[in-house]
Amino acid sequence: MISKNEVYELTIEDMGKDGEGIGHVDGMTVFVKDTVVGDRAAVKMMKVKKNYAYARLMEILEPSPYRVTPLCEKAVSCGGCTLQHISYEQQKELLQKHVCNCLSRIGGVEGIDSLMEPLIGMEEPYHFRNKMQFPVGMDREGRPALGFYAGHTHALIPLSDCPAGHPVNRKIIRAMREYLMEAEVPVYDEEQHTGLVRHVLTRVGFYTGEVMVCIIINGSRLPEQDLLIHKLQEAVEIDDYKQNVVSLRLASVSISINRDRTNRIMGDHSKTIFGADAITDRIKDLTFRIAPESFFQVNPEQTRKLYGKALEYAGLTGDEIVWDMYCGIGTISLFLAEKAKCVYGVEIIPQAIENAKENAGLNHISNAEFFVGKAEDIVPKLYAEAPERYRADVVVVDPPRKGCEAELLHCIADMQPDRIVYVSCDPATLARDIRILGERGYDLRKAVAVDMFPHSMHVEVVSLLQRVSNTRPKAITLDVEMEDYYRIKGDRTND
Ligand code: SAH
Repeated sequence: MISKNEVYELTIEDMGKDGEGIGHVDGMTVFVKDTVVGDRAAVKMMKVKKNYAYARLMEILEPSPYRVTPLCEKAVSCGGCTLQHISYEQQKELLQKHVCNCLSRIGGVEGIDSLMEPLIGMEEPYHFRNKMQFPVGMDREGRPALGFYAGHTHALIPLSDCPAGHPVNRKIIRAMREYLMEAEVPVYDEEQHTGLVRHVLTRVGFYTGEVMVCIIINGSRLPEQDLLIHKLQEAVEIDDYKQNVVSLRLASVSISINRDRTNRIMGDHSKTIFGADAITDRIKDLTFRIAPESFFQVNPEQTRKLYGKALEYAGLTGDEIVWDMYCGIGTISLFLAEKAKCVYGVEIIPQAIENAKENAGLNHISNAEFFVGKAEDIVPKLYAEAPERYRADVVVVDPPRKGCEAELLHCIADMQPDRIVYVSCDPATLARDIRILGERGYDLRKAVAVDMFPHSMHVEVVSLLQRVSNTRPKAITLDVEMEDYYRIKGDRTND
């Protein structure tokens, strides 16, 4: 019998999906944060459930050979990097294993080891992020601070730098703090829903040197904007980032108004207070305009590899009609358009679609057409209206973590593309969707994990599904009935 608050010894045998260590005491599965596979540790039971428990690390009795000293002194408390204390080689193995487990256990994929290519990691897994979102609050001394939240809470961990981000962030953090103090700007208090400055978003065009700062506020204007711009310019443009080849330039400062009592960071609209409404950056030979609200992959070095794989899996010859669903600012769409007859992109954020259209023009691409709306609404509607025009030889999907809505997957299967390239940032929902597509005649042929977010359990996967049957297998007749049943009940959306 395991008791709460008692200390036990265990060996960490595996890692969970959030990077926590997993061991056993008397046959009971125990999750322990901040431990590593191979650690022998003394742990205190904090929460004991029927079949599992959560424990706190008290002492490492024998350290795992995979343990390393984190580069960031806040790595343990900050919720951003959960794996910095594990060697990068071991991190990559954990990710690969996690993806294989999801695809075989949830996705029901057989022979996964032979379908998976080796994981694509980074040479130098630091300073890789082009975007940061710092919550703003108070430090212990009651001064304004920028930082990150501690894991699973909204307690602010003040940071002066972040080794995952571009080095310019260190100076932007300092400049922002100085501005907030000098102009006496109140920081946002989440509990009371008072104060002004909630978050600071920064984005750096790694290949153009253009820097964006967007300040998310609970109000309509910022005091002493000139002081802010002056400080930001000074911070960005005094260039002593020796490792950077391109020199940096403050290209866009905006405010985003979010007066809601919500966890959502960005407001719906932003207002430019300095420079342009968007910054540009390049991926391979293409240039992209990126507004503050738009999604843009955060790790430029790995994005090139990720898109390279998506394009390879799409196997285009120049004659294909291609759909790019969840297309963001049209990044993947435009790479596809260079190799296809035509591309249709669909995306929910209007600003991103504006960017996508601009980006097509900027890159002289005329065979891409974009639509605003939910993919699960737009695609079935267009396909029903004009099936010849909106059919697909190849479909690319790149949904957020929750994966694709079942209606969309069924519509894609009805369109009968030869290949589906599924780019995913959550292997569990990818696996769920692969199972649904499997029941509709699509087989997983290849998959590769790309480490876009070193030091975390988040991982991106590109997978290729091939159509193997025209007719639905027997079981599917049943499934269609189930689908109708769910549609009537209306609860299939989040399964
Ligand atoms: N393929 C793009 C964007 C991928 S991120 C790239 O690589 O840059 C996922 C995108 O899906 C985001 O831009 C998000 O705004 C969008 N999105 C979220 N839900 C959606 C939905 N239901 N329909 C269409 N797009 C959606």
